[in-house]
Amino acid sequence: MRVAVVGAGIAGLFAAYYLEREGADVTLFDELEPGARSVHAAGIIEPMTAYRTNTLAFLRRVWKYWRTGTCTFRSADTGWLLESLRQLERAPLPGTEEGLRRMGEVSFAAYGELSEAHDDFGYVRRGLLERYDDPVRFAEETASARARSSFSPVEVRERVGGAGDLFFPDVGWLHTERCVARLRRELDKVRVVRERVRSVTLEGSLATAGGGATFDGIVVTTGVTSRTLGVPLTGVRGYGWHVRPVRNVDVATIHADRGIALVPFGDELKATGGWDFDLGVTKGRPQTVLGEIRKVIEIDRVLDFNDGSRPCTPDGLPTVGRKSRLVVANGGFRLGWSFAPALGRIAAQLSLGQADNDPFLARFCGSLHSGSFA
Ligand SMILES: Cc1cc2nc3c(=O)[nH]c(=O)nc-3n(C[C@H](O)[C@H](O)[C@H](O)COP(=O)(O)OP(=O)(O)OC[C@H]3O[C@@H](n4cnc5c(N)ncnc54)[C@H](O)[C@@H]3O)c2cc1C
Repeated sequence: MRVAVVGAGIAGLFAAYYLEREGADVTLFDELEPGARSVHAAGIIEPMTAYRTNTLAFLRRVWKYWRTGTCTFRSADTGWLLESLRQLERAPLPGTEEGLRRMGEVSFAAYGELSEAHDDFGYVRRGLLERYDDPVRFAEETASARARSSFSPVEVRERVGGAGDLFFPDVGWLHTERCVARLRRELDKVRVVRERVRSVTLEGSLATAGGGATFDGIVVTTGVTSRTLGVPLTGVRGYGWHVRPVRNVDVATIHADRGIALVPFGDELKATGGWDFDLGVTKGRPQTVLGEIRKVIEIDRVLDFNDGSRPCTPDGLPTVGRKSRLVVANGGFRLGWSFAPALGRIAAQLSLGQADNDPFLARFCGSLHSGSFA
């Protein structure tokens, strides 16, 4: 079976990986180097966290982020905005919790197996420390973490000079660039085409500037640019740096009130931040965010920089569904790396006809149609 995967971000790389394992003849399209738009991420693997955005608690958080400069609003997809308002405080569909739990297990198993076979991308499960200064948010997050503690154990810790910390011992982290390099090595039979795809059809046709082709199946994993195919999505931009800190953290740490994540790799650190509702690129913004990061950790040297976007559905949870020959897998939002193996595997199964649409996962794919990319 000939399958095209459009978009070689982390979701597309895993879709290609599972398709190849099932014996499909896979072509992977991206105008950029595979992974280029995904590697900015901190690399924290926490698929046990359901991060819903259609709640008043999330709006309060974003409001506070905006007041402190962590978040900016420049542009958002109109369809996403309207659907988000309709979805506000709507209870998750039946099966959501169980579906996310299964996805979490698949993702942990995938990273674990890859790392056990060859430990070359720094994957460890040594926990995540979330630090809170705002007592209201700390109380909210503590209640929510305790409610999920049968799946994801949590330790609540007091902290002098702040509201408190939550420690999640089961959370993992990995080196995003090395993980992409590893997946590329795994995809030895996949044809990689460095071209932007202009359009796709439900019938399996795909067009690039250089021509067109027809496939038995097309898996679209282009993140925010697939919002023109009938899936309501917007992008929340953010930035990531490898730096050499003066003194490193011991464990992956999120400064929750500032939206900053710090992940240690030997004497280096991955530092990320920025919550920008922005479908474009805003000059100067990364430097402002780096300035905020310097307030929580002293940096000796900046080694590199990447940016990217969190593809967000109206409820903040992932979506994957099939219509005719087209499959869309998207919406990882702030947990795109955490859900990517599961999203990729489900997309592969749908495309190969090994599974049917799951009502929860396909909830935003009902209006999927042929079209050009944004
Ligand atoms: C600052 C920050 C920190 C983060 N930290 C974490 C974290 O610690 N853990 C976690 O789980 N998640 C994290 N995330 C979220 C995660 O990075 C994203 O959810 C993830 O990158 C989404 O992956 P994706 O493959 O769906 O989309 P993308 O990464 O956006 O990849 C889409 C790909 O499609 C390509 N493309 C687009 N249009 C076309 C086209 N027309 N033709 C061909 N190719 C196309 C792009 O070039 C790109 O390569 C973070 C995000 C940010 C911003």
